[in-house]
Amino acid sequence: VQWFDYAAPTTLGEAVSILAAHPSARLLAGGTDLLVQMRARRKQTDLVVDAKRIPELSVLDYDPAAGLTLGAAVACYRVYESAAVRAAYPSLAEVASIIGGTAIQGRASIGGNLCNAAPSADAIPLLIALGATARIAGARGERTVAVEDFCTGPGKNCLEAGEVVVSLRIPPPGAGFGAHYLRFIPRNEMDIAVAGAGVSLRIAGGTITAARVALASVAPMPVFVKAAGDALVGKAPGREAFEAAGEAAKAAASPITDMRGTIAFRRHLCAVLTRRALEAVAAAQKGVQ
Ligand SMILES: Cc1cc2nc3c(=O)[nH]c(=O)nc-3n(C[C@H](O)[C@H](O)[C@H](O)COP(=O)(O)OP(=O)(O)OC[C@H]3O[C@@H](n4cnc5c(N)ncnc54)[C@H](O)[C@@H]3O)c2cc1C
Repeated sequence: VQWFDYAAPTTLGEAVSILAAHPSARLLAGGTDLLVQMRARRKQTDLVVDAKRIPELSVLDYDPAAGLTLGAAVACYRVYESAAVRAAYPSLAEVASIIGGTAIQGRASIGGNLCNAAPSADAIPLLIALGATARIAGARGERTVAVEDFCTGPGKNCLEAGEVVVSLRIPPPGAGFGAHYLRFIPRNEMDIAVAGAGVSLRIAGGTITAARVALASVAPMPVFVKAAGDALVGKAPGREAFEAAGEAAKAAASPITDMRGTIAFRRHLCAVLTRRALEAVAAAQKGVQ
């Protein structure tokens, strides 16, 4: 048996004070990673701090000029049930709907997915593609970190002791913008990605004006493939450009062989998933133009 105390602060200030006073405390959002890891004794703590009663961590607010503010503890079902999210960021609604199943989505958060920093986390490549930033608060004040700079290793992130992610900020999509996340899993659902690719494109007048590509499950942490996105800018959206981006993604991957797939298979998947995700965004853009 692993005994622990439980605190449920109702303000951000209170949560930060509790965490500052107890460096070994762990924040609990949905608990769908934390509790599993505590049971398996991969994480230990004597104090669990519930994030779900802190207003700033429960916000879901979309403003066409400012973009989306997504509280770090907002459960996935609230993301995909939000009409504003579905309209402005359909890719985010979709990724929230593939994390686990219905029961998991009732608790699990996008913020928890990010903070858990699994190399296979499905939401992280898409957040990178969307240009998301994390608002972080701690006893020494606040800071903002781009999601591509957040993870530092398998299960490791840039948070210092006592810091919490308050919310994620996603810029407004604007005209001609689209994003998509694709993963390969041997089963239809409830599986860990063998590889995943999150991409975004902005297309204006038949030319790509901005692009971002990120990968899951092919390195010790999610990979932002800046070169793949940069090389797309100025090109016409199409097979040639998307295949080149796929090859750049493949080159940026440094996967391992495990029971889910070999190095060669994972590298191949990077190219295929990146190309297909880009094709999906371009096809959807055609539909709205
Ligand atoms: C059956 C099952 C299926 C799953 N399927 C998927 C899947 O398909 N894809 C996928 O990516 N994941 C999957 N997961 C993993 C998990 O559900 C996700 O990673 C989920 O998004 C975690 O969110 P959470 O709110 O439950 O995090 P929690 O478990 O509450 O927290 C995760 C970690 O982050 C820390 N943390 C949480 N919030 C904050 C914060 N605001 N600031 C600082 N630290 C914080 C916690 O202390 C903990 O260490 C699955 C898990 C299970 C049990």
